Amino acid sequence: MKTVVLKFGGTSVGSIDRIKKVSNIILGYKKKKNKVIVVSSAMSGVTNDLIKKSKLISNQFNEAEYDVLVSTGEQAACALIAGRLSHLGLNSRSWMSWQIPIITDGPYKSSRIDKIATKELLKYINSGGIPIITGFQGINIHSRLTTIGRSGSDASAIMLAKFLKADECIIYTDVEGVFTTDPRLHKKAKKIERIEYDEMLEMSSLGSKVMQPTSVQDAKLNIIDIRVKSSFINKPGTLITKSFKKKDFSDQIITGISSTKNDAKITIAGVKDKPGVAAHIFEPLSKNLINVDMVVQNISLNGKETDLTFTIKSEDIKKTEKIIRENKNITYKKISFDKDLAKVSIIGVGMITTPGITYRMFKALASEKINIMVISTSEIKISVLISSKLVKKAITVLHKEFKLD
Ligand code: ADP
Ligand code: ASP
Ligand code: MG
Repeated sequence: MKTVVLKFGGTSVGSIDRIKKVSNIILGYKKKKNKVIVVSSAMSGVTNDLIKKSKLISNQFNEAEYDVLVSTGEQAACALIAGRLSHLGLNSRSWMSWQIPIITDGPYKSSRIDKIATKELLKYINSGGIPIITGFQGINIHSRLTTIGRSGSDASAIMLAKFLKADECIIYTDVEGVFTTDPRLHKKAKKIERIEYDEMLEMSSLGSKVMQPTSVQDAKLNIIDIRVKSSFINKPGTLITKSFKKKDFSDQIITGISSTKNDAKITIAGVKDKPGVAAHIFEPLSKNLINVDMVVQNISLNGKETDLTFTIKSEDIKKTEKIIRENKNITYKKISFDKDLAKVSIIGVGMITTPGITYRMFKALASEKINIMVISTSEIKISVLISSKLVKKAITVLHKEFKLD
């Protein structure tokens, strides 16, 4: 008898009709004599609505209350699924994170799952019950509700698979699997059959929304295979698993292309070129939880002054500008801001051993007259910052250049 964890995302449980369909999928696993654990997200749009409400109440909404508020969507979805399964004659009940409990660590809004108690859950599963568990939420050592970051139900499923020693963890979503790039942005995107954790981690951190980055990290650390598949159509999907590609040879050098939106670029011109200046600039940004992404510092022409460029999310521009203007520890000549930018990245372990990938990427972008503003690289990815208007064009030309079409 296999134990399977099934996670359903927002669109998969987005309406009563969808919940009925998802219940039939669960029934299918039960008929095949599996032990089934279900993790659900909130119905699509619900979490966003709750976040909007929190902002209307206060622009500094208490973070602990924020977690109580935004995790309610999962409670409703779980009750609806459990209710439907009972209607179908199955033994099922909802479990909130605090009833299990799923213990988290770290700050409100972005906690991480630390431990999951399994005794009661296992008793229930072994007696034939199907627990429907709230994704996204946990409880901390102070017995207060927490959430584990947007799209966190993915991580809830993976950690439940770990603690329950499940044989399979299946992430049901609204696309057929992980594609070479977002299939909604590029029609020629192809489904990937198998992808390594490291590549998936880069793809999701660089904007491929299909899996939450933290969840991929949890899967990698605990060596849990993930299958991503559609809740709309029964096809094999994508397997996310440990390293399997030979590092010395690969005909497919690039595995996927990711993109972000709403990036902004800040250039501080004429800052002193001496040790400690960059730290003085970034310290208050980090204290104010502003996520700095790409950073470039130009070589100083006169040995005294230099320009520093970095990227943040557009919604943080005002806050960042205020912090820099009020920073008494730095001097500069000019500060400039650019918004409506996007980061496009190519990802693939094949680039470790294949020279010339950077050149091919830049040449392909140049052929479409796409101007690159900032570049950053790691062993298995190259990212460029471009105008957000050109993202589709960039993905199209790169997808073709690296033979992903
Ligand atoms: P869920 O609600 O099931 O968690 P998400 O919206 O979080 O679903 O993730 C699925 C979406 O991710 C898809 O609808 C798709 O538009 C987007 N996406 C972005 N990049 C990719 C990719 N490389 N492969 C598949 N889907 C992607
Ligand atoms: N409902 C939460 C969100 O929208 C968690 C999730 O969907 O995984 O971020
Ligand atoms: Mg998701």
